[in-house]
Amino acid sequence: MSGELTRRRFLAGGMAAGASILSARIQGAGQQAAATSAAPDQANWIVDSHAHLKHGDAARTEYSPEVIVDTMDKVGIAKSVVFAMSTTTQRSIEMAERAVKKYPDRLIPYVYALPHYERPVIKEIERALSGGLFRGIKIHVGECTLADYVIDPVLKLAGKRNVPCLIDLGGRYADAKRMAAAFPETKLIVAHMGRYLSTDRNLIDQFIGLAENCANVLLDVSGVVVLEKIVEAVRKIGSTRLIWGTDGPHEKPDTVGFARTELNKITQLDLPEQDKRNILRQSIVGLLRL
Ligand SMILES: [Zn+2]
Repeated sequence: MSGELTRRRFLAGGMAAGASILSARIQGAGQQAAATSAAPDQANWIVDSHAHLKHGDAARTEYSPEVIVDTMDKVGIAKSVVFAMSTTTQRSIEMAERAVKKYPDRLIPYVYALPHYERPVIKEIERALSGGLFRGIKIHVGECTLADYVIDPVLKLAGKRNVPCLIDLGGRYADAKRMAAAFPETKLIVAHMGRYLSTDRNLIDQFIGLAENCANVLLDVSGVVVLEKIVEAVRKIGSTRLIWGTDGPHEKPDTVGFARTELNKITQLDLPEQDKRNILRQSIVGLLRL
């Protein structure tokens, strides 16, 4: 949670200039959607590609699909990619299935891959993907090793099934490089542009460089605090390979305030509107063929 404080402080400082006209418009659309509680209208086109039914924090915090969708309504988010972590692959499947059954038009599930050398979980992942409901795989280095004999079967399956892997690498550039080169058919979405809340510009540059060299690498901008690196990445790899997500829900200050702050992070960037639209929607829509 101390990381969270750092993040809030940083973002608050970075956004002292105030909300842009566009973000005000988006928030207005969100309030409208909340008031009617109806399905999102056309103005409400944002997609959150990174939302947790269960987090990887110390408390292993869980959020109900009701809270996630209520937050989406108030912020103006049309759809969210949801997944659970800090649990088994099987339970991540059950949690996501339950959530999506309740909100089939709003939530898009990823399966959580927790492979172990004694328990590969490939069969469970394969079953989840073969049903067509699950559109991607979440991997977190804090909970599983990226050793080739453990992770490669998962990456290979993702390529075969043409679903992306959203992978939190905790800054492990060498592992990312190996995986991207070994599985060119597998789309790797690098969470947080390499490492959560990183201020290490050299590290971020390495991951942008990886995306420049490997067409199968995309960058998730959630938990990114050096905002000019997002602009730089757009210039180097194009906005269609950058993907927005909240990495929420979070309670600080509350789930709606948190998501709006993450949204404003993109809307206030000095970028053409089309690039913002790609980051906030089109990149993930294209990738998941929504
Ligand atoms: Zn996350």
